[in-house]
Amino acid sequence: MTDKRRYALVTGGGRGIGRAISIELGLRGYYTIVNYRNGLSEASETLEIIKSSGGDGELLPFDVSDLSSVEVALKGWQQSHSGEYIEVLVNNAGVRQDNLMMWMQNEEWDRVIDTNLNGFFYVTRALLKDMLVKRFGRIINISSLSGIKGLPGQTNYSAAKGALNAATKALALEVARKGVTVNAVAPGFIKTDMLNGLNENDIKGNIPMARFGEPSEVAHLVGFLASKEASYITGEVISINGGLYT
Ligand code: NDP
Repeated sequence: MTDKRRYALVTGGGRGIGRAISIELGLRGYYTIVNYRNGLSEASETLEIIKSSGGDGELLPFDVSDLSSVEVALKGWQQSHSGEYIEVLVNNAGVRQDNLMMWMQNEEWDRVIDTNLNGFFYVTRALLKDMLVKRFGRIINISSLSGIKGLPGQTNYSAAKGALNAATKALALEVARKGVTVNAVAPGFIKTDMLNGLNENDIKGNIPMARFGEPSEVAHLVGFLASKEASYITGEVISINGGLYT
């Protein structure tokens, strides 16, 4: 008899930190559902890497900031996978649109809140019931240093990630008795497209480890939090920032 598939979903799993997490979960034996919004070719490449590393998965496009897009995609998946469920959810999809508060446009505020915070709500709510019924689940939210200490020019992003940290703690308490853990990972500077325009040499002097982090370093932490071995860790916001803010 073959083992039952164990499903993990990574939002924004096609590139950057999400790609590294998708690959890590694939290596850990999860059938990895790689969500993307615009980046079909990068998400396809990620799926190829998972498969060539001996894992398996599929692509699932939707926009986390759009409620109907989330519901159509996830209800469709659930209907076509009767009796199965997604046991690991990594809410990774995120955007930043920095501006000083006095210049910030409504669209910049809304887009950052809609993606980083409302996206977490829409996707998590859709998958939570199955985790509770099955009495096992792992929810890992990719937050940010910006949500812990606040960064100038990022009132929108700091607000979204700070709220995500608070929601992580509240939800963890709601579901703690049901075998579902909820944690956040708060990276500092990690080498991805999100840091385009920032020069590592200009910033690394402020980082005790004197370098930016690699997406794979975040992915290893997420992989552990997704595992059964991490069963007694919940409601935590775990920093991964080379000592930048401790
Ligand atoms: P990237 O810009 O490299 O990737 C962003 C990812 O989010 C892409 O896969 C993108 O998908 C996806 N995405 C954006 N908007 C949506 C949406 N509406 N619906 C679905 N997917 C979406 O960023 P990172 O990999 O660096 O960021 C990943 C997470 O880590 C984010 O939550 C970010 O806030 C957080 N983070 C990053 C840090 C860093 O230094 N890099 C530091 C702290 C936190 P697509 O390609 O399809 O558009």
